[in-house]
Amino acid sequence: MQAMVLKKLGTTLEWTDLADRQPGPGEIRLRVAACGVCRTDLHVVDGELPDPKVPIIPGHEIVGRIDAIGAGVEGLSLGERAGIPWLGHTCRVCPYCMGGQENLCDQPVFTGYTRDGGFATATIADARYVFPLGEAGSDVALAPLLCAGLIGWRSLVIAGDGKRLGLYGFGAAAHVVAQVAKWQGRTVFAFTRPGDVAAQTFARRLGATWAGGSDEMPPEPLDAAIIYATVGDLVPLALKAVRKGGRVVCAGIHMSDIPSFPYRLLWEERQLVSVANLTRQDGLDFLRLVPEIGVVTKTTRYPLSHANQALADLRAGRFEGAAVLVS
Ligand SMILES: [Zn+2]
Ligand SMILES: [Zn+2]
Repeated sequence: MQAMVLKKLGTTLEWTDLADRQPGPGEIRLRVAACGVCRTDLHVVDGELPDPKVPIIPGHEIVGRIDAIGAGVEGLSLGERAGIPWLGHTCRVCPYCMGGQENLCDQPVFTGYTRDGGFATATIADARYVFPLGEAGSDVALAPLLCAGLIGWRSLVIAGDGKRLGLYGFGAAAHVVAQVAKWQGRTVFAFTRPGDVAAQTFARRLGATWAGGSDEMPPEPLDAAIIYATVGDLVPLALKAVRKGGRVVCAGIHMSDIPSFPYRLLWEERQLVSVANLTRQDGLDFLRLVPEIGVVTKTTRYPLSHANQALADLRAGRFEGAAVLVS
């Protein structure tokens, strides 16, 4: 197999030939067809997340076909198309796992961060954390759903049922969530970098009723806002934009420091919460709805060997929607 490997934090990935691995008990091997590029991959590469496995093969939006199955695996078959998400393994015995919050597991393993991921021609996964994907939709179109879609879905659920929803940062996650929220009958307000007319046009095309800069106030108070951009300055801005009792959800794994702000922005029962990781149930709930909603992902393809270019373009905001590596 071949992979783009991060050998040292803060450096570029290197094209590397590796021996094919066999799946162990409870594992499957996936022949990778497509792998989405997520902002979290940048955080891994930049060394912004604690205790990564190094060297590491990044990538946690993986779509491919199962080509080897380890002992004791049930419910998956050879040749089946499947997806591998960020949550790669949980302990199943800690209080969080026992309480239905496996996204907060005390001993988790994350794909492309603490176990090798999908910037490769093949990858091994714990079979219990693999989602069958069926045959509808292309590999490339499905890839961004495995993280941008799933984390987006979880953040939307946590945002509550409010009709007027703000989305801060209109990248891979928001472009999926806008479609889901629209389908649910909500009104979407999209906030982009001030002056980013292209992103605002993109947001309106995907159903946003209003799109403007993050420094602007929406035309009416929001019931909830979700922040996908990794910019802490957005937190007080979003609190200012939500109504009394409204909720602001931070959906990123990493964010720059949040500046201090007057207490009156939080007063009147406004809530500020974060969303971490996903549960397998989130995945099942969301992937079941995708065909019904008719989610269309906007993707930019790169050959696997051009992963560094894809990461650089993501960092610079050079494409709409999501980047996907194809092998
Ligand atoms: Zn991700
Ligand atoms: Zn656990």
